[in-house]
Amino acid sequence: MENPCVTRFAPSPTGLLHLGNARTAFFSWLYARHRGGRFVLRVEDTDAERSTPEHVTALLEDLAWLGLDYDAGPGREDGHGPYFQSARGGHYARAFARLGAEGHAYPCFCTTARLELDRKLQLARGEAPRYSGTCRGLAAAEVTDRLAAGEPAALRFRIPPGVTVRYPDLVRGDQSFESDALGDFIVRRADGSASFLASNALDDAEMGITDVLRGEDHVANTPRQILLLEALGLAAPRYGHLPLLVGPDGAPLSKRHGAASVLDLRREGYLAPALRNLLFRLGHAPAEDGWQTLAQQVAGFRADHLGRAPARFDTTQLRHWQQEAVRHATFADLAAFVPPRVPPVAAESFLAAVRANVVLPADAGRYAEMIYGELGDPPAELRATIVGAGREAYVAALNALDAGADWGGLTAAVRAATGLTGRALFKPLRAALTQALDGPELGPVLLLMPRPLAHARLGAALAACEAAT
Ligand code: GLU
Repeated sequence: MENPCVTRFAPSPTGLLHLGNARTAFFSWLYARHRGGRFVLRVEDTDAERSTPEHVTALLEDLAWLGLDYDAGPGREDGHGPYFQSARGGHYARAFARLGAEGHAYPCFCTTARLELDRKLQLARGEAPRYSGTCRGLAAAEVTDRLAAGEPAALRFRIPPGVTVRYPDLVRGDQSFESDALGDFIVRRADGSASFLASNALDDAEMGITDVLRGEDHVANTPRQILLLEALGLAAPRYGHLPLLVGPDGAPLSKRHGAASVLDLRREGYLAPALRNLLFRLGHAPAEDGWQTLAQQVAGFRADHLGRAPARFDTTQLRHWQQEAVRHATFADLAAFVPPRVPPVAAESFLAAVRANVVLPADAGRYAEMIYGELGDPPAELRATIVGAGREAYVAALNALDAGADWGGLTAAVRAATGLTGRALFKPLRAALTQALDGPELGPVLLLMPRPLAHARLGAALAACEAAT
């Protein structure tokens, strides 16, 4: 049997988890879970200035909220860690020493200004910018002297010439790159820190990662990382590059498209299953349409159903899945949707009454006001609808209400007194009772509404009719 796979999610905690990375995390998790493999979380916090403990905490909370548990990672050591890159300096140093000793890397003394100048010259000549090779062939004695004199030096990987790097991309199919088109790249910066290319690849190898799903923005890094691992005799993972997320206008996804961070969506009241159903379809074509539980998604996730085309995010779809999520939720899942205004004993019947009309907690808040709040005077338009039913309607409604009638009894009494039926009957009564022309079914709403309040609203409608004549 094939060895079980190990995937990982390797975020940089320099900001909040956004949808693109949430999808990468989810797909990597699904990939592992579908195959009975392991899922690892590695925090790439090498950017000491922009990485913060707050972002790490938020990240862990977002992943837990999404239901993405990890087998190894922060707080879950397994002997392949530590899982914070900031704690892995020793691992990198050993690899750099080997690269240097075996001639796969060399000290590079080029200053930023020098590199920038080379870049400009190359661009001016119409060439693709890459390291020009200034320090590639320095004599050993010169290197020793300059290092001894304390000149700052980065360590640069020596790309082997004339090699074709081939790898099968899990998403994009067979790829091939000519090494001659790649410039030597930095593995250790002059300040001693490991570069992204180095730390990311070394960690994958040392942590036994077999399969990597990551964003398309890393495609150009892959051949470099494969060559680096090869030089060290380490196995490279299988890579798959997920297409970019774009907005409805085809531009890279941003806040402008309503694509907030996972934390923002959580705060607005989006439910994790809604987000999972949305993400499941962004660049992955499920075999089955429609709502899926997490277990169904684990069973149905197919790496060969990952697509190359940019994946389009749309808030309409997000709302659609949120509606489905609310429909499928238990009462406990929706507890946070019940506004404080609703008496605790009525919480469950309130949710039952409104959930078909609720997408976000804010909607439930509006309905709670509608059922329990002070509504004030209705706007003119609504007033015309209310008054249209005539005073007899409200006299009958009030009598029925006082006699303890429910919604069925109340409408029957109004129908008998006025001859109104259908919309002509229901619309004014809804307007009088809730100051709205649509909303949740009125039967359950009237059961929830405190009787004195219903009485007062019908009484106000009666008064409005009398004032109008
Ligand atoms: N820290 C990198 C990022 O967030 C990880 C890239 C990768 O998954 O290899 O883009």
